[in-house]
Amino acid sequence: MNEEINTVNNKLEILDQIPVGACVLREDLSVVFWNKCLEEWTKISKNQIIGSNICEHYPHLNSPKYLSRLKQVFEGGPPTIFSSQLHKHIIPSTLPNEKLRIQHTTVTAIRRFNDSGFYALLIIEDVTDLTNRIQDYRKMRDRALAEIEERKQAEQDLYEKTKELEQRNFELTRLSQMSELLQACLTVEEAYTVVANAAESLFPNLSGGLFLLNQEKKIVEAVASWGNLLITKMVFPANQCWAVQRGKPMVIFNTEPCAVCSHFNKTSAQYCCIPLLAQGEILGMLYLVSHASGVLTQAKQLLALTVTEHISLSLANLKLRETLQNQSIRDPLTGLYNRRYMEEFLSQELLRAFRAKKPLSIIMLDVDNFKIFNDTFGHEAGDLVLQELGIFLKKNIRGSDIACRYGGEELTLILPDAPLEVARQRAEHLRQSVKHLNVKQRGQFLGSITLSLGVACFPEHGANSSAVLGSADAALYRAKKEGRDKVVVFSGTNTPIPPPGMLK
Ligand code: GH3
Ligand code: MG
Ligand code: MG
Repeated sequence: MNEEINTVNNKLEILDQIPVGACVLREDLSVVFWNKCLEEWTKISKNQIIGSNICEHYPHLNSPKYLSRLKQVFEGGPPTIFSSQLHKHIIPSTLPNEKLRIQHTTVTAIRRFNDSGFYALLIIEDVTDLTNRIQDYRKMRDRALAEIEERKQAEQDLYEKTKELEQRNFELTRLSQMSELLQACLTVEEAYTVVANAAESLFPNLSGGLFLLNQEKKIVEAVASWGNLLITKMVFPANQCWAVQRGKPMVIFNTEPCAVCSHFNKTSAQYCCIPLLAQGEILGMLYLVSHASGVLTQAKQLLALTVTEHISLSLANLKLRETLQNQSIRDPLTGLYNRRYMEEFLSQELLRAFRAKKPLSIIMLDVDNFKIFNDTFGHEAGDLVLQELGIFLKKNIRGSDIACRYGGEELTLILPDAPLEVARQRAEHLRQSVKHLNVKQRGQFLGSITLSLGVACFPEHGANSSAVLGSADAALYRAKKEGRDKVVVFSGTNTPIPPPGMLK
């Protein structure tokens, strides 16, 4: 045995010079060579290990996965490799930093020197640094790949954001175009066309319609539509639409039969109804429907709300304008407001006065003996006097007051915020100043006129427009009775006052 060991050690002396572990095993797994490098790595000297069974020092080697492969080597088979990935620590040894050295081991058969058969020569390379470097490299590569991936994602996000911004920008431009066009419309019919055109481009993949309530607020009717397959009735009772009923937007996805508006014809599509509201009044609704899911997005719903606000306002304004145009608001002879406008204005001002707890006064005035004036100077002269009286009154009231021709030669002044005493003084001032109204006809001075004036004040003399007007009229009647050319303040019995509009 000793002789054999000596021979092996002599023959393999060179392996003491190399910086890799080298060890030779006999078939019975006894160690016959152990180089200097292994001595250093394992802190086991040649003397300690040579001649002993390797498994005494490293019991894990006594397992089939090693033994079977070593057996092939001892039979002179091809070299076998225990890679650093799967068998890192064949002969475990620690580095100065206490970590285990990572090893790459090649086992080669070498012919026994004096005998037949083979030894197994284990060449163990320390690949710790290499492995670490590879790992670092892998990490670097993974990081770089992750960064590339992140950047791609960021680019994608940016692209989508830009697209979204472009879309918002387009919508805003189109929306303001729609508003401008709506403002330029002279009739509601023109406005319907503007809405349909704008909606078609703002909601490209949606069909829809503009639905309005009729005068009686009972029937809803489509006045404009866009896209195709609207799957809704075009005329239906108001109670068939939740949005019109409740004044709140109705959005239905994957429609649940119980919640669907009954003007809607099918249950497989998505739709929304958004009420058109102006000054608390429901005018109708904007209807949008999609046959594919994912089109009626949150963004589209928000846009629809904004569009609806614009439409509501414009329609309300147009309707108001049309109403006002239908009933001319001024009296053509005197240029003063007519009675209908006065009544409208008075009821609004009374509401305001009631809320603000402020007074409102009314002066009702009538030209004295105007019949005689007409008879004396002619009807044309009478007209001239009424005209001049109109100018005179406009000059003698504040900007917030209004003067109206109540009828014939009877005129009314409404003085918001004016308490009774102020109104009385104003009436008195008018009574006196009108006497200096020198009206000329064809260069000839006509005779002067006098006025009788009745003054009443809200809330003392009436809780609503007809009551205060009635009080002012009663005061005027007394002024006439008491001799004309006179101001009389109403002095009826005061009754408890309910809010205006409650009594009519
Ligand atoms: P009193 O002092 O009681 O008011 O007498 P009066 O003559 O003014 O009252 P009355 O109601 O008897 O007559 C009103 C007159 O006002 C009759 C009518 O010819 C005249 N009048 C009403 N509207 C017009 C108008 O637009 N133009 C002219 N020229 N006269 C008018
Ligand atoms: Mg008169
Ligand atoms: Mg009269």
